[in-house]
Amino acid sequence: MAPETLKAHRPADGPDTVVEVAGVRFGAGGFPVIAGPCAVEGEHQMMTAAEIVREGGASMLRGGAFKPRTSPYSFQGLGAEGLRLLERAGKAAGLPTVTEVLDPADVGLVAEHVDMLQVGARNMQNFRLLQAVGRSERPVLLKRGPAATVEEWLLAAEYVLDQGNPRVVLCERGIRSFETSTRNTLDLASVAVVKALSHLPVVVDPSHAAGRRDLVLPLGLAGLGVGADGLMVEVHPRPDEALSDGPQQLDRDQFLRLMEALGVGRIREAVDQVDRELVRLLARRLELALSIGRVKAGRGQPVRAPEREEEILAGARAEAERLGLDADFAEEVFELVLRHSRSLQEARRQAL
Ligand code: PEP
Ligand code: MN
Repeated sequence: MAPETLKAHRPADGPDTVVEVAGVRFGAGGFPVIAGPCAVEGEHQMMTAAEIVREGGASMLRGGAFKPRTSPYSFQGLGAEGLRLLERAGKAAGLPTVTEVLDPADVGLVAEHVDMLQVGARNMQNFRLLQAVGRSERPVLLKRGPAATVEEWLLAAEYVLDQGNPRVVLCERGIRSFETSTRNTLDLASVAVVKALSHLPVVVDPSHAAGRRDLVLPLGLAGLGVGADGLMVEVHPRPDEALSDGPQQLDRDQFLRLMEALGVGRIREAVDQVDRELVRLLARRLELALSIGRVKAGRGQPVRAPEREEEILAGARAEAERLGLDADFAEEVFELVLRHSRSLQEARRQAL
């Protein structure tokens, strides 16, 4: 099949797909954060984690009940009991939930307890599992395999889409490389590549990529910068006592700091956009004032037209009041604009 006919691919100029998970929208221009412990370890741990996640302003709660551990002797998760605890914590905090499903036979059970099914990195090419979640009604978070190319990752998504489930969110969580200073290498470029190739939303998981909590904040910000549609981070009330992935989990303070950093970053972006627009409008206004200045000069009229200035200032005050802006402030800004405009017109006249 030609690549452009794949369901995961973006048709020329096609729109982004927005994946909605119980009211949380991925791919709609926002930056939803999924947070929670690596594993559900017990009721108190899960409830406390959910409270922290809610307090920080995240959009979804995570927690592993079936854990894909490298060693068979490591904590394997609480299984069905973990699903129940995650569901209860999500309801208490008012947050939709996501958890990993390891076995195609468990898809139905897991789907009963959570809002979104996660296919983990190690199972990215478990084709039977992909088909099983593809037949589910639940949206799917599809993690990139640690040694998978972007093409293989998108073909894995294709298995889910091909079964009739259109709600797939991709997750870049780091790949194997020669570099040993981080657990995996966060492939930020893959996010930009996926955004160009596919219409599916993609989120970044800096926790599993870095394996170190000190790198989660900068890598999370980098994910925002590269155009990801959201974040997944691990948060634990007591990371030092965690039964899995302790070194990469954030405690409450670290998580709140991350959320604050992301928030400011996003608001600043919006402010920068407004500022650029303000400067563009000022330049346009001045250009128009200079055109009027030329006409006045041609007719021998003075630069200053006090009545017109009064009219402009009164108009600015009225518009400010209508918008709930301080009218004195608006008048001051416009006095400055008018003063500059006058002096520029005078200068042009003298240069004639
Ligand atoms: C996880 O998110 O719980 C997890 C095991 O991650 P990954 O599949 O990316 O290793
Ligand atoms: Mn983990």
